[in-house]
Amino acid sequence: MTDRVAIITGGSRGIGRATAIAAASRGFRVVVGYASNEAAAKSVVSAIEVKNGKAIALKCDVGDEHDILALFKAADKFGTLGALINNAGIVGPTSRVDEMSAERIQRMMAVNVTGSMLCAREAVKRMSTRHGGKGGVIVNLSSVAAKLGSPNTYVDYAASKGAIDSFTIGLGYEVAGEGIRVAAIRPGLIDTEIHASGGEPDRAHRLAHNVPMKRVGTAEEIANAIVWLMSDDASYVTSAILDVSGGR
Ligand code: NAP
Repeated sequence: MTDRVAIITGGSRGIGRATAIAAASRGFRVVVGYASNEAAAKSVVSAIEVKNGKAIALKCDVGDEHDILALFKAADKFGTLGALINNAGIVGPTSRVDEMSAERIQRMMAVNVTGSMLCAREAVKRMSTRHGGKGGVIVNLSSVAAKLGSPNTYVDYAASKGAIDSFTIGLGYEVAGEGIRVAAIRPGLIDTEIHASGGEPDRAHRLAHNVPMKRVGTAEEIANAIVWLMSDDASYVTSAILDVSGGR
């Protein structure tokens, strides 16, 4: 994989940022996707370049197909695609299902599900041996919410991650004979800004006592699992979903 391109959607902050830095240290040329926070994306690129890695920042709202097509086109100029990390994801404010608007649910699915599927489509077109590619890896970010359902909080988010689990299994089987491995990580409570975007900055720490390991996880602990899946050490792993959740 050395010198192959890794696209990381939502690579500007949180788990995506840690994954971008870890992937670059293992020799990937990293495309740092971001939705709006250009400064954060540029700081990831700087952190990589200062260690002699290669990275570029590209704006891409994965809820918009045009943005996705433009992202992959620009990434093609950066090198040969070897990995896609479908990391970009959103939560909504804490809510019951009977309070959710259609717009909220549609946006949740557009970003977390359709966005990941369209990015995977573009990656398969480039990496599959069926299309003349050299193979590669797709890692999808699911969540333990897919198992827990997140009642009274964000069932829409949990359902979007359930879809990611099924997508991982199905796409993995579909392209297993074409040089592409597909896997998902189900993080537990991880210390990032996503909880603040759901209106509850302290959520992870507040719920830490429910975690069998009695603590929240770090973005780096998720990144370590992702770069393992990206590596040849995981060469027989596909259609697999790995919980990285302290036992949650
Ligand atoms: P985060 O700290 O909120 O960072 C989100 C990243 O995604 C940012 O880089 C953001 O870009 C980008 N992003 C947001 N909306 C986007 C869109 N529409 N298109 C493209 N990029 C977008 O999130 P995180 O906690 O690192 O979560 C990363 C992934 O892990 C998500 O899929 C999340 O569901 C999953 N996960 C997280 C946890 C957790 O406890 N943190 C647990 C389970 C699963 P900007 O910087 O431009 O805003």
